Amino acid sequence: MPLAEAKVSIEDRGFQFGDGIYEVIRTYGGRPFSLEAHLARLDRSATALALTQPYSRAEWTDYILEGIKRADYPEAKIYLQITRGVAPRDHAYSDEATPTVVMTVREFHPLDRSVQATGVDAMTTEDIRWGRCDIKSLNLLANVLARQKVKQAQVFEAILVNAGLVTEGAISNVMVVQGETVVTAPEGPRILSGVTRGIVLDLALSEGLSIQERFVSQPDLYEANEVFLTGTTVEVLAVIRIDGKVIGDGRPGPIAQRLAASFTSRVG
Ligand code: PLP
Repeated sequence: MPLAEAKVSIEDRGFQFGDGIYEVIRTYGGRPFSLEAHLARLDRSATALALTQPYSRAEWTDYILEGIKRADYPEAKIYLQITRGVAPRDHAYSDEATPTVVMTVREFHPLDRSVQATGVDAMTTEDIRWGRCDIKSLNLLANVLARQKVKQAQVFEAILVNAGLVTEGAISNVMVVQGETVVTAPEGPRILSGVTRGIVLDLALSEGLSIQERFVSQPDLYEANEVFLTGTTVEVLAVIRIDGKVIGDGRPGPIAQRLAASFTSRVG
């Protein structure tokens, strides 16, 4: 239906409490990329919050493919959201509410290739999020505040730092190159396990690079040979300056470039 015709009750728990989950998927060549991995993460998020999944993966897949076909954009960004549903406002919930499900399909405009070629500026900011960042929940207030700082500072991304350790970006995962090793925060409650993160780590291994899943400190971030971001919308994107400090030689480094190239061939 047209966006303007879609309505949600003011008693929806997504509106009242941010009590829900979401996923963002993009297409390459009109086909949804890594759909299985995104739907698997949606299942994990639902399970973690004891939310009833309204559809099986096969049903989700059918709806997504139909949405892409009907929207008929060259490339699309598909947003899925499930909330716990409508109920009189009370923090605790009953199992009776029917989940509210929303899917939007919008045109996706990939990042300009020149941005990839030059790399981007980032800033650090304190990671003030809750203790279950592995759940892709609608509660994005800390990310909202971080992204507003990004906008004000006119940089590309906020790198979140928790107790002196780098966790991830506000909308991406962060990887650091130390010598020939790609280092990134381990999966667990402190980060969202990015679909792109997993693919890029596999690519790094198949390129003969070593990988380490551990936290790096903020000083180590500034001292890294290279830093890059991974994510559905950013793909593999080199960071050339953080908080005004130049990373490496101030250009996308060889490993980020190699991984960006293998990621491009991987997505076809
Ligand atoms: N970390 C956060 C906080 C994100 O919001 C995202 C994506 O939106 C990512 C990481 C990257 O995840 P993915 O590669 O699955 O898009």
